[in-house]
Amino acid sequence: MPTYKAPVDHVMFVLNDVLHVERYNNLPGFTEASPDIVEAVLAETAKFCEEVAAPLNRVGDREGCRRHPDGSVSTPPGFKDAYWKFVAGGWIGASAPPEYGGQGLPTVMTQAVREFLYSSNMAFAMYTSLAMGAVAAIYAHGSAEQKARYLPKLISGEWAGTMDLTEPHCGTDLGQLRTRAAPLADDSFKITGTKIFISAGEHDLTDNIIHLVLARIDGAPAGTKGISLFIVPKFLLDTDGAVGARNAVTCGSIEEKMGIHGNATCVMNYDGATGFLVGEPHRGLFAMFTMMNAARLAVGVQGLAQSEVAYQNAVIYAKERLAGRALTGAKFPQLPADPLIVHADVRRMLMTMRAFNEAARALVLWTALKGDIARRSADAAERQAADDHMGLLTPVIKGVLTDLGFANTVHAQQIFGGHGYIAEHGMEQFVRDARITMIFEGANGIQAFDLVGRKLAKDGGRAFKAFFAEVAGYIKERDGAAAMAPYVKPLERALGDLREATTWFAQNAPSDPNNGGSGSTDYMQLFGLVALGYMWCLMVDAAKAKGADGTTTWEQKLVLARFFMEKMLSATTAHLARIKTGAASTMALPADAF
Ligand SMILES: Cc1cc2nc3c(=O)[nH]c(=O)nc-3n(C[C@H](O)[C@H](O)[C@H](O)COP(=O)(O)OP(=O)(O)OC[C@H]3O[C@@H](n4cnc5c(N)ncnc54)[C@H](O)[C@@H]3O)c2cc1C
Repeated sequence: MPTYKAPVDHVMFVLNDVLHVERYNNLPGFTEASPDIVEAVLAETAKFCEEVAAPLNRVGDREGCRRHPDGSVSTPPGFKDAYWKFVAGGWIGASAPPEYGGQGLPTVMTQAVREFLYSSNMAFAMYTSLAMGAVAAIYAHGSAEQKARYLPKLISGEWAGTMDLTEPHCGTDLGQLRTRAAPLADDSFKITGTKIFISAGEHDLTDNIIHLVLARIDGAPAGTKGISLFIVPKFLLDTDGAVGARNAVTCGSIEEKMGIHGNATCVMNYDGATGFLVGEPHRGLFAMFTMMNAARLAVGVQGLAQSEVAYQNAVIYAKERLAGRALTGAKFPQLPADPLIVHADVRRMLMTMRAFNEAARALVLWTALKGDIARRSADAAERQAADDHMGLLTPVIKGVLTDLGFANTVHAQQIFGGHGYIAEHGMEQFVRDARITMIFEGANGIQAFDLVGRKLAKDGGRAFKAFFAEVAGYIKERDGAAAMAPYVKPLERALGDLREATTWFAQNAPSDPNNGGSGSTDYMQLFGLVALGYMWCLMVDAAKAKGADGTTTWEQKLVLARFFMEKMLSATTAHLARIKTGAASTMALPADAF
């Protein structure tokens, strides 16, 4: 049975020593999140995740969710009790707006809470995070009345939320969406259609579920410009806001799937259900992007979280399992064989996982801090710059952290040998659960193309230029500092690769868009490696500053950083080389040759 220990110490190191979160005390909500309060909250969350959510991870996988003949859905045993414990802890609305009952705490803190929860039980955690996505969309685009009616109960956790985009014939290409919205005399709409793959579409955790549904108003233009966003509650509300009549939205079936069995992935049938327009007609995709961007960051965190929990269990196993002898001679001659951890190839996998996990965590928290600045700063220029950063880093975090996170769950499984393939050890569940993160919330190929096809040219490349300038400025400041050279020089080289790839796209994608399409995944990975490398440099600075206290933990950071620079960041060269070969060989064969 796998175990989990929340990495509270590392989060505190990133918040206090790398990001210096105390510098942002001018932002609303930050003074309430002093280091001692943050540490206490994280310790409390860690306890919940380790003792309540993690033991249910295997139960959820084994038992799954059940749909009953009346369309109701039961979550796995223990989930409901755990959900209400989580609600009682006040975690659900911790970062939500205070005027609707949230605590307004910085998301740089609550993203760490989210990572712990996803590591301990991703299927369970998804019931809680979708409500927060719905809150973000309604808060940004809903009317004052909608905010008053729906936000307090979503924020308290009394009600849950869903996002309903996908239909049987379209997921990525939402322009083909067919769900209809017929206007009614009272300004509401009659919603008719079928949505598939809806996470947490139906369940027994809450009294009500607020579905955010994309549909096309009768007579609306075809394509993405004719899509609107609707609130469709499972139970309609009385005039006083109490739960009233059942709405015509039902779960037709639960998908049988590869992983996250504890989360009900539902086919949802809308049979003339009453819906309420959010924002302007035909601007639904724009409004839904608020929810999707939040969800994309959350999915990136899921990739990291699965990598972290898989790593922790691989370490335990590598120290216990005896096999062979160290190449340099027995390390434990008193034992019949040395433990796996003495072997360089096993070390390669452990170091790869850990060097990724720590940098990815820093990247997530850095970006969450930018999100706080974008939403809370009084300075318009600061808000703009932070918003640019979010737009740029969202596809990178979603795509790279899930690609590498999944690869790491496979590394961890590999360390278990044959036992990793056997359910009892739980490692194959991490692999299965992590796999979906590369697909949902926009498949990773789409994230890569968003980065290259949309974000690169947006606002004349303003966000890219700012990112490059920040990393280049950092490198320049350390020019000639010999102690930093093993970290800064590789970063400088990798940044050079990224710049060259960017210029190559600017010169070669306009003449042949497939040059952009065929190189976009390599570009996203290259970008991610540079961003993670930058995080390692910042962590080295912080570790060196800490080093004076003589603890070995900070010296370990330097070793991990060196490993990242030598073994992982070096991959940027291959990504650049592949990008520069263009699309010719990829696209040469006609479709009927496959
Ligand atoms: C477990 C699970 C939970 C989910 N939860 C939700 C949910 O809560 N709400 C919701 O609305 N949806 C949900 N989804 C749906 C999910 O978001 C979609 O499956 C995903 O967006 C991909 O859409 P698709 O399956 O239709 O694949 P397609 O759109 O058919 O794409 C197939 C492949 O082709 C690639 N591709 C497609 N178009 C292009 C293009 N133009 N350029 C390059 N490559 C392209 C994609 O990257 C992908 O790899 C969930 C899915 C699963 C499996």
